[in-house]
Amino acid sequence: MTSLLAAIAHHLSPECYAMSVSPTVLMRLVASAHTVAEKAGAIVRKVLHSGELGIVEKTGANDLQTLADRLAQQSICASLSRHFPKITIIGEEDLPAEEIKEDLIESGFSEEILQKTCPEEYSGLKEEELVVWVDPLDGTKEYTEASRCLHHQTEAQIPSKGSDTSQPYSTALWLLDNVTVLIGIAYGGRAIAGVINQPFYNYELGTGAALGRTMWGMPGLGAFGFQLREVPGDRRIVTTTRSHSNKLVTDCVDAMEPHEVVRVGGAGNKIIQLVEGKASAYVFASPGCKKWDTCAPEAILHAVGGKLTDMHGNAYCYDANVKHMNSAGVLATLRNHEYYVSRVPQSVLQALKSE
Ligand code: AMP
Ligand code: MG
Ligand code: MG
Repeated sequence: MTSLLAAIAHHLSPECYAMSVSPTVLMRLVASAHTVAEKAGAIVRKVLHSGELGIVEKTGANDLQTLADRLAQQSICASLSRHFPKITIIGEEDLPAEEIKEDLIESGFSEEILQKTCPEEYSGLKEEELVVWVDPLDGTKEYTEASRCLHHQTEAQIPSKGSDTSQPYSTALWLLDNVTVLIGIAYGGRAIAGVINQPFYNYELGTGAALGRTMWGMPGLGAFGFQLREVPGDRRIVTTTRSHSNKLVTDCVDAMEPHEVVRVGGAGNKIIQLVEGKASAYVFASPGCKKWDTCAPEAILHAVGGKLTDMHGNAYCYDANVKHMNSAGVLATLRNHEYYVSRVPQSVLQALKSE
């Protein structure tokens, strides 16, 4: 019987074959993370609309946590561990262990992902070998600024998009697209799958528009939920932080000799800039980003042929026991990674040691 099934399977298309056998642990995990990220995105929208953000300063005024960060992380971690109790899940927020309300649990799986064929090298992975890095809300600073604008009309105080911060932008709503939910999956220290939900995608369509989108990717399988675009020709458009800058960061950006600098919030959002043809390199020559900021983005970027490293060009490790801080900065590109590594100034290399 088994050999008969194998013979039939041999003649099926990859899609039919995938449907004929039960999905692997990894594909089930990504399929779950996809719906769980959508649920988290809905929580992020709901808290914004309520106007009650419950802001807490963590290490300082530029390191914030809101009710949305807390609820989204509870929802993601509790939902994933119900289906996958043996997986190690590391979330950004330090939260007290408490009973999670049942309405925060998402138990669905993305059918589209369940039907994809798992890359051969990951087909035997077990739950206990996987590590999940969760940033329940990336771009919290921008989220709080957009909320202030929406609820108190203080947009004149919000700097404009891009490099020119002298002109007040008529509205700070563009900051909403800086916000993402990040779920990254690692095995053997490498980022092997990532899901990014952008909760306010399509905000510019106005009331009544369906908001949000989910992108995901797996090196060896592909990336989905967006259209891959590249910055044309040899143009160097560098994207970097808008709220966590310092001299090392600006010196390093200048050393890339960019034609244009795009200052936006969020690590997830900056990877979206790279894969949608709005930036050629994400340059952040400073500690500040953590493993949960880069795991999901790195997997998606890698799935489309890009690269994410520290400022020396060395890969980060995503094992469960690594330190959370990406101390040697973040350098991510869709193409020409070597060029950007070669431009990093000695002062930066000396200040930021590889792990
Ligand atoms: P940014 O590009 O400034 O939006 O930062 C990307 C991610 O790294 C966000 O999750 C930030 O919260 C985090 N991050 C970067 N620098 C710092 C910092 N100095 N303190 C705290 N978080 C930081
Ligand atoms: Mg973050
Ligand atoms: Mg966060």
